[in-house]
Amino acid sequence: MLDTHPIRAFLEPRHAALADRADGFARMDIATRAEPADDAAARKEARALLDLFGAGGWLRPIHELDLRGCCLMREALGEASPLADAVFALQGLGTTPILLGGSVEQKARWLEPIGRGKVMTAFAMTEPEAGSDVSAIRTTARRDGSHYVLDGVKTLISNAGIADLYAVFASTDPTQGAKGISCFLVPADTPGLRFARAQVLSAPHPLGEIVFQDCRVPENALLGTEGRGYALGLAALDRLRPTVAAAACGMAARALAESLAHVKRRHQFGSPLATFQLVQQKLARMATDIAAARLLTYRAAYEKDQGQARITTEAAMAKSFATEMAQRAVDDAVQLIGGLGVLADHPVDRLYRAVRALRIYEGTTEIQQLIIAGELLKQG
Ligand SMILES: Cc1cc2nc3c(=O)[nH]c(=O)nc-3n(C[C@H](O)[C@H](O)[C@H](O)COP(=O)(O)OP(=O)(O)OC[C@H]3O[C@@H](n4cnc5c(N)ncnc54)[C@H](O)[C@@H]3O)c2cc1C
Repeated sequence: MLDTHPIRAFLEPRHAALADRADGFARMDIATRAEPADDAAARKEARALLDLFGAGGWLRPIHELDLRGCCLMREALGEASPLADAVFALQGLGTTPILLGGSVEQKARWLEPIGRGKVMTAFAMTEPEAGSDVSAIRTTARRDGSHYVLDGVKTLISNAGIADLYAVFASTDPTQGAKGISCFLVPADTPGLRFARAQVLSAPHPLGEIVFQDCRVPENALLGTEGRGYALGLAALDRLRPTVAAAACGMAARALAESLAHVKRRHQFGSPLATFQLVQQKLARMATDIAAARLLTYRAAYEKDQGQARITTEAAMAKSFATEMAQRAVDDAVQLIGGLGVLADHPVDRLYRAVRALRIYEGTTEIQQLIIAGELLKQG
């Protein structure tokens, strides 16, 4: 249940209404869908979910740059289905560079079909040698008349192989490091762009590697100006990290709900598990941690929605705290549920497999901690 009361200081009346609708949608239309049996099924399901989001107008908060709305969506979806959450999140990640840096023509061409769920997006930044250190990107985009020619490899890319449009980060000037990185919009059917292989996760999540080989795109595929890609990518991540935190809160809330139901039902030593104080301690810690993580999450989103230019520190605190918290909460839930909790079709086992990646993608916990400490040290 998405309870907006504890975070009401950060919300507007329209958010409470959205939370109610999102909660109902997630419970009735998303949580009831079967978990895909394998990667191929997960890829099909991801497209089906995107169709559903598009048809129902659920992608609107992304397009309206309503960060609190996006957080509410991800919290509701994270609680119901980590795959559905990932589909929503990835549409946000692929769209945000266009929203922040696209020209009038680029926005006119892409935003409408993206919003209807007809064009699936992806965000292609990571490379085999450039993970946390984005400035090490080696994919190049060489100018050739009125075109750019892209060459390189992108790895661990969500939606790789099923996306229609990739936001690709490539170097237009390798001598300039981060300042030489640019961002291009590359349709999946562009000659020279190839889906190389799927990278299969333990949780359903379409992921893979793509290769660019003599991939020619017209100059109007460039987002903004040459050399602006790094700043654009970081601005998109800055903006979206609170939504990762929100998804983590949703997953932790589901873990707590499953735990509560189980410990009330299950008897050992002649009493319900819920009567044992060691069990109660876990429940109390989960509830308190979730409450704290939600406050950090919606504070960050509120600051951005209020027009604060950068929420780097707030977003890093929310993401690192909430994702670490969710990992602990899901682990506690598995412990409370015992042997049944590690069976592959149990909801907490599904959460256990899904929650791990949140501490890694869009900047690892350690990178968030470096960001926070860096800001502290700057203040002298
Ligand atoms: C499920 C999933 C989906 C993803 N989707 C996408 C996507 O859609 N698009 C995309 O571009 N990328 C995506 N990624 C990639 C993701 O962004 C990277 O995995 C992440 O940035 C970390 O990079 P890395 O895996 O290369 O790890 P590395 O950078 O090699 O880090 C390995 C470890 O070293 C630590 N470390 C690194 N540098 C430091 C330092 N200076 N100080 C202390 N510790 C450090 C890290 O915290 C980590 O613990 C996805 C990853 C996953 C798991």
